[in-house]
Amino acid sequence: MRSNPFCVLPMSIIFGIEGTAWNLSAAIVDENDVLAETTATYRPASGGIHPREAAQHHASHIGKVVRETIKKGGRNIDAVAFSQGPGLGPCLRTVATAARALSLSLNVPLVGVNHCIAHIEVGRWKTQASDPVTLYVSGANSQVLAYRAGHYRVFGETLDIGIGNALDKFARSVGLPHPGGPRIEELAKEALQYIHLPYTVKGMDFSFSGLSTAAQEAHKKHALPDVCHSFQETAFAMLVEVTERAVAHTGKKEVLLAGGVGANMRLRQMLGMMCEDRGIEFYVPEKRFMGDNGAMIAYLGLLMFKAGYRTQVPDSRVDPDFRPDEVVVKWR
Ligand code: AMP
Ligand code: MG
Repeated sequence: MRSNPFCVLPMSIIFGIEGTAWNLSAAIVDENDVLAETTATYRPASGGIHPREAAQHHASHIGKVVRETIKKGGRNIDAVAFSQGPGLGPCLRTVATAARALSLSLNVPLVGVNHCIAHIEVGRWKTQASDPVTLYVSGANSQVLAYRAGHYRVFGETLDIGIGNALDKFARSVGLPHPGGPRIEELAKEALQYIHLPYTVKGMDFSFSGLSTAAQEAHKKHALPDVCHSFQETAFAMLVEVTERAVAHTGKKEVLLAGGVGANMRLRQMLGMMCEDRGIEFYVPEKRFMGDNGAMIAYLGLLMFKAGYRTQVPDSRVDPDFRPDEVVVKWR
């Protein structure tokens, strides 16, 4: 730890590694800023993410990614944080192995963190959001979360695939390259009409698999821009509905958007309108902090390290199904 001239408390410096899916990213942060970050992205030659290929990509790049990050900002590191889950098993194991090795060689503690909570905490760090309902929408995950009584509770989530994977799956089926989300957003702007697609909200949960298949079917009869537009309108309305109900239930005054699908301007517009109607604040972090990034893992590692969390090597095995509500939150 080093001392901060403006503060009596010592500053911590944490090294973090993310690699739950296609982005391998390492970063060093302190309380104020991201001191260094290096990312290597796996891009499948064709089709979607292949877990073993992605893990091989991470294994072959991790040495360079870690070395470069240390070279850019690696002084006085207090702990090594890594994403322990949820994510693709082979990818998680590669990152955890590197994190254990680094923590042993630097002789500093290891802190295993939950990837979903890292998205929320980096959002709170990088925006003015203090106690938001978070809509976390990525390739594999889609969840509505909010803090209550020592846990980040999951108020609603997908019953099958994440919204990003649903968009990517549909995109692939109509011949668009991976990742399909950004291309669908572009095509949707050329739409002339809305086509009815299945809207599935069950209780507080949603489902996207049927929507993706129905969109593939619809494309046999309708123009691609119309189907892209209708897919977005239907899926995003489901996400906004559940987010709004979580806001109404919790009485929270803020909404935070997180995850790679949060780059979508139509989704932002729809959530923004809901927040405006309810007179609450809507926060969207800078794009680099929305998709998977090393800084978010390092930053949650920092919060947890300062609150006394340490992960012993026998407890550092990864958990592909690690739920955010399992974590006892002692840093808030
Ligand atoms: P993540 O898993 O958080 O890294 O996010 C990756 C997912 O975000 C992929 O499924 C992409 O298709 C999706 N995505 C990225 N940009 C956009 C966009 N503009 N609109 C919709 N989805 C997007
Ligand atoms: Mg993510």
